[in-house]
Amino acid sequence: MTAGALLLEHGTLIEGLGSPASVDGGVLVGADGRIQWAGAMTELPLNASSVDRIDVQGNWILPGFIDTHVHLSNADAQRDPFQRATLPTSFLNLSLVTSARATLHAGVTTVRDLGGADLGMKMAIDQGIIDGPRMLIAVTPISATGGHGDSRYPSGLDLGFRSTYPGLADGEVECRKRTREMLRAGADVIKIHATGGVWSPRDQPDDEGLTIAEIAAVVDEANRHRGKRVAAHAQGRGGISNAVLGGVASVEHGYQIDSVTVEEMLKRGTYLVPTLTTATTAPDRAVVPLVSYEKKMKWMEIAQECLPTALTSGVKIAMGTDSGVVAHGRNLTELRRLVEFGVDPMEALLAGTRYAADLLDLSDDVGSLSVGKFGDVVVTDCDPVVDIAKLEQSEHVVLVVKGGTVYKNLLSDA
Ligand SMILES: [Zn+2]
Repeated sequence: MTAGALLLEHGTLIEGLGSPASVDGGVLVGADGRIQWAGAMTELPLNASSVDRIDVQGNWILPGFIDTHVHLSNADAQRDPFQRATLPTSFLNLSLVTSARATLHAGVTTVRDLGGADLGMKMAIDQGIIDGPRMLIAVTPISATGGHGDSRYPSGLDLGFRSTYPGLADGEVECRKRTREMLRAGADVIKIHATGGVWSPRDQPDDEGLTIAEIAAVVDEANRHRGKRVAAHAQGRGGISNAVLGGVASVEHGYQIDSVTVEEMLKRGTYLVPTLTTATTAPDRAVVPLVSYEKKMKWMEIAQECLPTALTSGVKIAMGTDSGVVAHGRNLTELRRLVEFGVDPMEALLAGTRYAADLLDLSDDVGSLSVGKFGDVVVTDCDPVVDIAKLEQSEHVVLVVKGGTVYKNLLSDA
C-alpha cells in the first residue's frame, strides 16, 4: 500500500452506476489520486494498515458531482450591469476564489465553465493555488453581432465580458476563426449562442442567433481538434432546432423545446442541460434592468410549460445550474428541480454524475466510483435518493474529496 492513500469506510455506497445503495461500503483512493477499490467493507481486499482512514459513520458515499453549466468568474450576476461595469477587472477575477470554493464545498468536484473563466483560473485550481473543482473552460462564447453575446448598447457603450478573447462572429469563416482562437486560448469546449437571452440588452430569447451553417462550422472546427464538443445556449424553439441540426453536443436551457426537436435529439444523442435552477429563480426586481426582469418572468413560465415533457421523453439529461447567474454553492438545488420536473431521483443523481461525465467526454476519469477514475467522492448525511431536496443545503454534504485530497470534512466535528 503506497503512502498517502485514503480509505473512506463504513458508509452506504452509491457507486453512480445506477444500482441501489449498498450498506457498509467503502472507497479506497490510492496515492496517485485514483480509485483503487470500491465495495462492501467485508471485501476490502488488502491489509490497509498504512492508509489514512475516515469512518463516514453510515452516511452516504457518492461520486463527486459535476455541474455542466457554471460561470465561476461571475460572482454576482444579480448586480446592476452599470454598477458592475465600474468594478476593477482584478476584483471580478478574484471573486472566482470564493465561487470556486463554494462550488467545491457544495459537493461539485468538476465543472464545465461556459463563459468567463480563462486558462489562468483553471491553472490556479489545478496547481492548488486556490481550492475549486476540476474545470473545463469555454473562455468566451461565440455569438452573432447583436446577439446574446453582444452587450453593446445603441449608444455604443459596451458593458460586456471584459475578455481578452472577443467572441462575436458573423459567417462561417469568422465562426471557424473564433473557434480556433478559443482553442488557442485553452478552451476545452466551445460555447455558442444559438438564440438571444434574458441578460443581453437588445434581443429576445426567441431571436435566433448563429445560423445552422455557422453552428455546423464551429462544430466541425471543434471536432477537428481531438473531438472537442460544442454547447449551445438556446432558449427559443427555432434556435434550439438550429443548434441540434448544426450538431452541438448539448442544448443549454432549452426552455421552449418542442417534440420535433426532442425526436431529433433522441436520434443524435444530443444532451439537454435544462438549467432549472435559473429557470425557476425570479430575479431581484430592485437590481436587474427592467427589460431583463420582464424577459426572465416570461421565460420562466415557458420553461415550466415545455421542459417537463422533454425531460421525461428519454432524451439524455445532464445537470447544469447556470451558477453565476444564480448564486454559487447551491448547485445541488438542480437535483430537486429535476425531480420536480418529473425526473426519477436516481436518474437525477446520474444526471449529476455519470451522464454529466459522458457529456463532458470525461467518462474515463469522473462520474462514478469505479476503479481507475479520480478519487472524487462526496459524503452526504441524508439519503440522496429519498431526501434529494436536502442536498441544496451544502451542510448536508459533509465530506468532499477531490483526487484523493480532503477539501471539506464536517465529520471530524461529530
Ligand atoms: Zn450560462
